[in-house]
Amino acid sequence: MKRDVSGALFERAQRVIVAGVNSPVRAFRAVGGVPPFIARARGSRLFDEDGNEFIDYVGSWGPAILGHADPQVIAAVQSALTNGLSFGAPTALEVEFAELVTSMVPSIELMRCVSSGTEATMSAIRVARGFTGRDVLIKFEGCYHGHADHLLVKAGSGAATFGEPDSAGVPASVARLTLTLPYNDIGALERAFTDSPGVIAAVIVEPVVGNMGCVPPIAGFLEAIIALCKRDGAVSIFDEVMTGFRLSRAGAQGHYGLHPDLTALGKIAGGGMPLAIYGGRRDIMSKVAPLGPVYQAGTLSGNPSAVTAGLATLSRLDAALYAKLESLGARLEAGLTEAAAKANAELCVQRVGSMLTPFFTRGPVRNWNDSAKQDKERFVRFHRSLLEQGIYWPASQYEAAFISVAHSEADIDRTVAAAAEALK
Ligand SMILES: *Cc1c(COP(=O)(O)O)cnc(C)c1O
Repeated sequence: MKRDVSGALFERAQRVIVAGVNSPVRAFRAVGGVPPFIARARGSRLFDEDGNEFIDYVGSWGPAILGHADPQVIAAVQSALTNGLSFGAPTALEVEFAELVTSMVPSIELMRCVSSGTEATMSAIRVARGFTGRDVLIKFEGCYHGHADHLLVKAGSGAATFGEPDSAGVPASVARLTLTLPYNDIGALERAFTDSPGVIAAVIVEPVVGNMGCVPPIAGFLEAIIALCKRDGAVSIFDEVMTGFRLSRAGAQGHYGLHPDLTALGKIAGGGMPLAIYGGRRDIMSKVAPLGPVYQAGTLSGNPSAVTAGLATLSRLDAALYAKLESLGARLEAGLTEAAAKANAELCVQRVGSMLTPFFTRGPVRNWNDSAKQDKERFVRFHRSLLEQGIYWPASQYEAAFISVAHSEADIDRTVAAAAEALK
């Protein structure tokens, strides 16, 4: 595989952009080597600057549920662009978009558009704090909610109750307000509420985790979060930036039939443009300025081209689309499982709909400790071999792979054959 152009670009990039990339995982540090620089994409395919073609399972880390450069989405955005890029004033498109989102996700009664998932979770937490008048936040180990200070926190060592910074630059005084618990541990959550009644503002969770690989909730876990929050007067926040619109029209909450107090959406919401959403219960969201005392604003929030891409994408998400994603997902899962068995490789494939991770461990993977047990060396070899064979797989064993409706059964079968080779 030719890498000359990407290699030269990577050299140039590293001189002026941190590590040559605008988001860390793109640097391929976990797997080594030169990341392909992408020139264009279409359907299930990426084409790099060296002319290599890949079947893509990253999907821009989630948004590309229709595949890349969907002709209807591109045409809609092109036509919106001719009317101007941003007005800083309300538009009919935003109303149409919010009406569509609230009709698809019934727990969202009132919402705001922002420009990134980070902004959405950060703003949801601020509203939860403003609504409850409390400061303490509970999150779960291995979940990622964007890069706001109070979310880059790990569990304190030993018996310490309070969190410690998980990034330089996060003040310890901020981290102390975040309590990090093991995912899928209902007992630990119950104890947290029993030990500190009336102080927890919110519990934030990925209802199906994508950010330690694909880890579904055990039965009763999400229900416990909602019930304990309700009993204690705290706010439940589902971070559906990844699962929103992917697992059903109403995301994971639709898949499991649940109604959190607040929800964060992103990725698919903007169909590849910078657009995210936070929203939920009317009484809570009514605390946001100028209705209420919680400040939040954004110059480019809800801009017409992003909203148009979102509308063009969301309006296509019907039952047939989810049925196709489920069938492609099941085909990939079965193929990988069979390939691993034939190669006598220790692999645990976990999947919910079109999100999937082959964990290099025996499994099942239920939390961060399980995921961290993976054979990293084995994953690196797997990733390199796939890339050589024209399969663009997430460059970290802690990321979920995504399937789009632009993938074909032939794409999946080619991928399975490549994986069989990669597992040898
Ligand atoms: C991607 C992601 C975010 C952050 O979204 P950005 O748009 O990258 O800021 C937050 N939460 C989850 C669950 C995500 O997958």
